[in-house]
Amino acid sequence: MNILVLNAGSSSLKFQVIATDHKAIDADADVCLARGVVERVGSLALVTFQAGDRAPHKEEVPLRDARAALERVVRWVISPEAGIAGVRSAADIHAVGHRVVHGGERFQASTLIDGAVVAGIEDCVELAPLHNPANLKGIRAARELFGPGVPQVAVFDTAFHATMPEAAYLYGIPYHFYRRYKIRRYGFHGTSHRYLAYRYRRMLGLSKEKVNIVTLHLGNGCSACAIKAGQSVNTSMGFTPLEGMIMGTRAGDVDASVVEYLSLKEGLSLHEIMTILNKESGLLGLSGMTSDMRELLAEEKENGDRRARLAVDIFCARARRYVAAYFAEIGGAQAVVFSGGIGENSAEIRARVCAGLDCLGLRLDERRNSALKRGQAGLISTPASRLKAYVIPTDEELLIARDAYRAVAGRRSPA
Ligand code: AMP
Repeated sequence: MNILVLNAGSSSLKFQVIATDHKAIDADADVCLARGVVERVGSLALVTFQAGDRAPHKEEVPLRDARAALERVVRWVISPEAGIAGVRSAADIHAVGHRVVHGGERFQASTLIDGAVVAGIEDCVELAPLHNPANLKGIRAARELFGPGVPQVAVFDTAFHATMPEAAYLYGIPYHFYRRYKIRRYGFHGTSHRYLAYRYRRMLGLSKEKVNIVTLHLGNGCSACAIKAGQSVNTSMGFTPLEGMIMGTRAGDVDASVVEYLSLKEGLSLHEIMTILNKESGLLGLSGMTSDMRELLAEEKENGDRRARLAVDIFCARARRYVAAYFAEIGGAQAVVFSGGIGENSAEIRARVCAGLDCLGLRLDERRNSALKRGQAGLISTPASRLKAYVIPTDEELLIARDAYRAVAGRRSPA
């Protein structure tokens, strides 16, 4: 079955076409036939498409909205230029899987989309005003374009964390705010953490119940997840993705009193302060320079920049704090798993996070850590290390494709 995986953002549309079925899933032999991104949707869009290992197709073309972007994607996917075997018309796309950021308390698993599900995702817009409307545009565009004959499946970023116990998801604020408004911690990056737990157990040949690990998704957005018996029992993002770790531009954990104090001192509105905490803080705010970890590491090394070092040190210390907290929360973890753009690619950050974790029995193998190639999964701790460390490149699209396949084929998701 050919699944179109869509991730619709406010001005971008990312996609993959993945061939999968139950045999491919069992053998881990799903195939990514094509991938791409449309950026700057709504103006002169920048399109980058790639089929297999062939040279990417790039173009600039005016695309008015999500529907126009999706039409461009599908036109290319079925074109002779893309040359994807077995995909020659829109009828060769058998289902569409959508990444949806917020499923609230209602959506605890991936779901076939019908009118009621669309309405349910609309109800969650209040909780994710930046993300869910964009996801909904992608869903509406795909339903219009493909018609009722092609099933559509929503895969929620929050769903993996639906297993968090009350003690992990409630804030220490009056309980009636949870009852009235569902103010609680939801967690995000769920599909990534779920993939990491799945890949880890496949690498080690473990059953799901035997998986007790801390996963670190370190990219522009960062989150940690405590996974016990294969299930999320805590995660660092909360009511929104703002909570938790230091990120590219997000502050992570901050005493809420800072909001009032800043408002008084600078005469800023709540909205302006939230913009600062979401878009001008984190690595960018601390360094005063960039949110890009590569640039910060280069600045630190080449120019000895103090603020770049500070930003990186605080980033690593916060990551370490979550590893230690979650190690305790799951009663001792087997491994820490690094993923995301930073976690997968930066041996230095991995080393700096692990440096303070010898008290938990983690001994990094410097050689293994630095020898790991881009895109490679592998062990980076020493054989004697009690707490292991791994790098596993994440693959959210794969799980979205598999969930879409399973929802269509009526199979339950084991991962
Ligand atoms: P993501 O959001 O997962 O795409 O991750 C983006 C982040 O990964 C950015 O901060 C990049 O600077 C960072 N990144 C990518 N490659 C490297 C690298 N080789 N070393 C350090 N950071 C990297």
